[in-house]
Amino acid sequence: MCVFSFHPVKSITTGEGGMITTNSKKISSKLKLFRNHGINRDKRFLIDKTKKINHYEQVELGFNYRMNDLEAALGISQLNRLKKFINKRTKIAKFYDNELTNLPIQKPIFTKNSSWHLYVILLKNKKIRQKLFNFLKRKDINCQIHYIPIHTHPFYKKIGFKKNDFPNSVEYYEKCLSLPIFFDLKYSIQKKIIILIHKFFLNV
Ligand SMILES: *Cc1c(COP(=O)(O)O)cnc(C)c1O
Repeated sequence: MCVFSFHPVKSITTGEGGMITTNSKKISSKLKLFRNHGINRDKRFLIDKTKKINHYEQVELGFNYRMNDLEAALGISQLNRLKKFINKRTKIAKFYDNELTNLPIQKPIFTKNSSWHLYVILLKNKKIRQKLFNFLKRKDINCQIHYIPIHTHPFYKKIGFKKNDFPNSVEYYEKCLSLPIFFDLKYSIQKKIIILIHKFFLNV
């Protein structure tokens, strides 16, 4: 299976929701059950074969994961703009890539084949990352941290995971910083972000 998120921050959105693709008919049928309270209306698979009128059967414990028509309509119109969205994000990524040079940071490898959902830089250590995060925040630039390693959340801790089970992901988490990248990001604001980052490293 392959899963896609259509949350508002993603390449295209349906408000909330997503999509699952699979080349397995069996998995597809099961997913359709889960989407609709575990209810089957397909005559071929009814357990009660007595041909009751408008019969349906709940055969699994499912949920209501149905996408409504309004969300679907938004998704279809978003598809027409996908290329435009990705081009803009690529342009933003390219600008960061060109301008964030000679700094003690690790940039993502620039490639035109990325949809540039995020632009994540790595700092030398946790302390510098925190300082840069705060510095930009004071200048009204909100960065993000993607993500808190899943095994360090209370639920996974409770089932036995220890912080040091995945040291690389913890190290990455401590050094990473996601710079603003979104369709409406203005050239002038991005320029300001770049200048601020250079300024920051002049003073640390
Ligand atoms: C967006 C995103 C999610 C959450 O997607 P949902 O639509 O809320 O299920 C999870 N993980 C990553 C890496 C994401 O980018």
